[in-house]
Amino acid sequence: MEMVSRREVQWQQPRQDVSNRATNGSMSVNAVTDTAGEESLTAAASDLLSALGEDLYREGLLRTPQRMAKALTYLTSGSTMTMKDVLNGAIFTERYDQMVLVKDIEFYSLCEHHVLPFYGTAHIAYLPAGKVVGLSKLPRLLDMYARRLQVQERLTQQVAEALQEALNPRGVAVMVEASHFCMMMRGVEKQNSKTVTSALLGEFRDDPALRNEFLSTVRMGYGA
Ligand SMILES: [Zn+2]
Repeated sequence: MEMVSRREVQWQQPRQDVSNRATNGSMSVNAVTDTAGEESLTAAASDLLSALGEDLYREGLLRTPQRMAKALTYLTSGSTMTMKDVLNGAIFTERYDQMVLVKDIEFYSLCEHHVLPFYGTAHIAYLPAGKVVGLSKLPRLLDMYARRLQVQERLTQQVAEALQEALNPRGVAVMVEASHFCMMMRGVEKQNSKTVTSALLGEFRDDPALRNEFLSTVRMGYGA
């Protein structure tokens, strides 16, 4: 219950992107987000750092638990958002019935097995059936599912299914290409591998020509 109320409070605040924070260093982000839930996260972060053998009183770590709490709150903030929050009435009636593709959308997520980042690009396409969605909503939809503890396979599928549900289009295609810190910094330590996942719904699944159109348009500009 506490987690829910923390997140509700968090999301009533105006959103600030990283560049705003950087340029408006005096903005009191701390005052905005210090909530009961963040206090318990801060305490947990202190425990974690102590368990790692760190000295919580050395200068560089004095406010680290608070920073960790804020960062983790933000990085998981998508889990309490809904499609309604994201799409917010930006669905319009249009006769356009060819593929709409927004490609190379960057995203950052957290793997739920190690709570380490995975990041990369997503390509999101759909075939309208009378309705289109504001283009900026596709990256927002991606962020909603990326900002939570995730696995890449589920992220891919959730974005596709959400778009299918919201627009009821003739088809949806989503491809995600990502690098996983849990494979880069630890484990097999492979820095250059990429994991590619895709979800194809409706006509993209059934029609090889459409699938190829999606793939070749995604690859356009890569020299492939
Ligand atoms: Zn992992």
